[in-house]
Amino acid sequence: MSIEVIERISHKYGSDPSYVLAGGGNTSFKDDNYLYIKGSGTSLATITKDGFVKMSREALAQIWNKEYSKEQDKREAQVLADMMGARCVGEEAKRPSVETLLHNLFVQPYVLHVHPTMVNGLTCSVWGKDGMEKMFPNALWIEETEPGYTLAKKCRDRINEYEEKTGKLANLLFLQNHGVFFAADSEKEMDELVNDVMSEFKRNITTYPNTTPIEASKDVTELINKVKALNEEGSVVKFVLNYEVERLCQSLDSFKVLLRPMTPDHIVYCKALPLYIENEDTLEEKHALFVKENGYLPKIIFIQGVGMLAIGNSEKNAQVVSDVWLDAVKISVYAQSFGGVRQMAPEMVDFIANWEVESYRSKVALK
Ligand SMILES: [Zn+2]
Repeated sequence: MSIEVIERISHKYGSDPSYVLAGGGNTSFKDDNYLYIKGSGTSLATITKDGFVKMSREALAQIWNKEYSKEQDKREAQVLADMMGARCVGEEAKRPSVETLLHNLFVQPYVLHVHPTMVNGLTCSVWGKDGMEKMFPNALWIEETEPGYTLAKKCRDRINEYEEKTGKLANLLFLQNHGVFFAADSEKEMDELVNDVMSEFKRNITTYPNTTPIEASKDVTELINKVKALNEEGSVVKFVLNYEVERLCQSLDSFKVLLRPMTPDHIVYCKALPLYIENEDTLEEKHALFVKENGYLPKIIFIQGVGMLAIGNSEKNAQVVSDVWLDAVKISVYAQSFGGVRQMAPEMVDFIANWEVESYRSKVALK
């Protein structure tokens, strides 16, 4: 048992885009006294020992014995302050992952939390819970919940209940419209667990996305320049067209499944809403209306019969926006194996869009 092992686990899954995109996902290692959790703004693929924040497990456990404000904003701020207070001496410059409390709930020393596209095909689907119970009878399901203390509290109650009832330790937990937690005693056990879960997904998924690029039917240089001009100076615009994008671009009806976000990641990197344009000639007008209504510039524009445009403030950022949005596209295809897409609830979208912690995460990842 060691921190070197969690480093290896982090690198293995963090460098595989089918498990982790952008700065997403987090890992932890714990012994009896300390939790070593990935710090915000570090990436799993390249994390080193210093990227983990050493925290007192005793201080984290104390959070459950405290009374916090009934007002959500105040409560989240109080819990965050206590979480920061649980950092060990010398760790003050680091910011522990927002999912720290959840990591500490598992008894096992190694915890991996990721948002794999295939897994989210289930968590963002209509049959989510039923599908999970069929595929993984020993796993736990947590319905869509505001992140932070509220979510951690719900997971804690559910894990305790499961462990009391079955006498077994919880090691697999699915979060609706979000992702999955794996917990294991060793690297080997972790690999077996992840492998078993992914194999079961492959056995049950009947529809796979076809992301083979397609050549645009016309020259899109002018369109790209037009979109650039509508954005801040220095914006980078990427044009994307593949089989799935083409299908989604056919009509507003086919695009419907993507009109609302499916996971918090989609909001953090691509903003809450995309802009869908039925007629290219109305681009300027519809763009202005979108900005007026939403108060931000769109990061994703779909143009009927043409393709998708991903907009960023740098080459790297535009690539992240494009990758994360294509993740949403793929999720919408995988979800067809589980009764179709289930988008995030509107109030949850607003909550994430205004959440200070997440905006910190996106700022760091986009630097
Ligand atoms: Zn997460």
